[in-house]
Amino acid sequence: MIKIKINKTKHPKMKPKDEDDIVFGSIFTDHMFIMDYIEGKGWINPRIEEYKDFKISPAALVFHYGQSMFEGMKAYKTEDGRVVLFRPMKNIERANKSNQRLCIPEIPEEDFLEAVKELVKIDEDWIPTKKGSSLYIRPFVIATEPSLNVVPSKEFKFMIILSPVGAYYKEGLNPVKIWIEDEYVRAVRGGIGEAKTGGNYAASMLSQEKAHEAGYSQVLWLDGIEHKYIEEVGAMNIFFKIKGKIITPMLNGSILRGVTRDSVIEVCKDMGLVVEERKISVEELYEAAKDGSLEEVFGSGTAAVISPVGTLKFGSDVFSINNGNIGEVSQKVYDTITGIQKGVVEDKHNWLVEIS
Ligand SMILES: *Cc1c(COP(=O)(O)O)cnc(C)c1O
Repeated sequence: MIKIKINKTKHPKMKPKDEDDIVFGSIFTDHMFIMDYIEGKGWINPRIEEYKDFKISPAALVFHYGQSMFEGMKAYKTEDGRVVLFRPMKNIERANKSNQRLCIPEIPEEDFLEAVKELVKIDEDWIPTKKGSSLYIRPFVIATEPSLNVVPSKEFKFMIILSPVGAYYKEGLNPVKIWIEDEYVRAVRGGIGEAKTGGNYAASMLSQEKAHEAGYSQVLWLDGIEHKYIEEVGAMNIFFKIKGKIITPMLNGSILRGVTRDSVIEVCKDMGLVVEERKISVEELYEAAKDGSLEEVFGSGTAAVISPVGTLKFGSDVFSINNGNIGEVSQKVYDTITGIQKGVVEDKHNWLVEIS
């Protein structure tokens, strides 16, 4: 187990008065975790110190060739005052899968978990308590070796920062408008779509901007080869309810392996629903939307948990899903997962990891 050196700040910051006013990811807590990697020495010098800017060479590999990985998870305060993480080992395993794909040295799982727990414990007072709020945890690795040579870095930094976030939906779940992107693609099989890395987001921004300008909040990506099969949304996986069945694209190497996706599948099965993980084509979806058998559409991700889709645009055809209202299954899955996170719904799969 790592021995984390702790050097607490002497200048704690003001905490936000009303967490509902916080713009996602704009405020950071008092401390951060840092650990260095040097080839030949491994991961060394784990420490928690004041959250502040740090020095880095302009030649650091991350700036030029994008060798980096990130994760997104949350800590919650339960109604009875416990501090919990939701399925953290899933994020940690996924982080190391991303690391492998990107030639970043793996981080020992137990050290990773210890670092998250220790940092959250130190900044525990920053965890918002209002309904729907939480402490967003952003672990990431960057390549820091100063070199313009296109080879894997010999030096890295693993850092964790924390950001309090208010309720994603202040007035109940609000269905979003999504358009199906048929020009640009996010990822292709064999590429880095399955890794959580900045490059995938850089690849998505132009399309996202186009969608925003047209009044849509997100894009739905199609596969990178045939532009035929549904993949996922911005930072969310996607689910459809067609004729009573829950359908989500199967993991194929270019779709991000969402922790929420996995939880939604389990919760739907617990509810007695049939869940199919399979290829689903745009044509199939279009036909279902047209003949009215497309009953619900929702995205799943750590930030919003469930994001109901009220409008879906296929080329020039725009369909309203469930009359633009949130569906019954979407609402129930949201209530169940957020209920488990807040400690008010039974955690029968043992998803919560208590920090104490
Ligand atoms: C993080 C992410 C998701 C959602 O994953 P969760 O583990 O559920 O938060 C989905 N798609 C992409 C592209 C992502 O980066």
